Amino acid sequence: MSEDTLFAKIIHGELPADIVFQDELVTAFRDINPVAPTHVLIVPNAAIPTVDDVQPEHELALGRLFSAARQIARDEGIAESGYRLIINCRDHGGQEVFHLHMHLLGGKPLGRMHNPPPPTALV
Ligand code: AMP
Repeated sequence: MSEDTLFAKIIHGELPADIVFQDELVTAFRDINPVAPTHVLIVPNAAIPTVDDVQPEHELALGRLFSAARQIARDEGIAESGYRLIINCRDHGGQEVFHLHMHLLGGKPLGRMHNPPPPTALV
């Protein structure tokens, strides 16, 4: 399934992307629709659809997501000011691309941790 995702194609060089980091375990590229001055997606090269599909053999690659985030934050000049890492999972988590990915956001104050959904009418 995930070999056909947009992100698998970017990893394999079949789709263009602004790649900022790549090694044998992870690939990082700029989000096409950034919501902060720095918005980079860091993805495992292995096809893992969601966090809920993680297996013990993925632990090395998942650890590398954090090491890559730390390095990219330094490269982007946002390590000192701080940044946010987000991984969305499935529908209620807001996941749109089913190839596990970590958002690295920074370059401005990011405010509260999340935007709550609008209140529903009480009936
Ligand atoms: P999520 O909602 O966590 O699944 O995030 C998916 C992200 O992928 C969104 O922030 C999109 O803007 C981003 N995105 C979708 N297609 C591309 C692409 N071709 N290159 C870079 N980022 C993309």
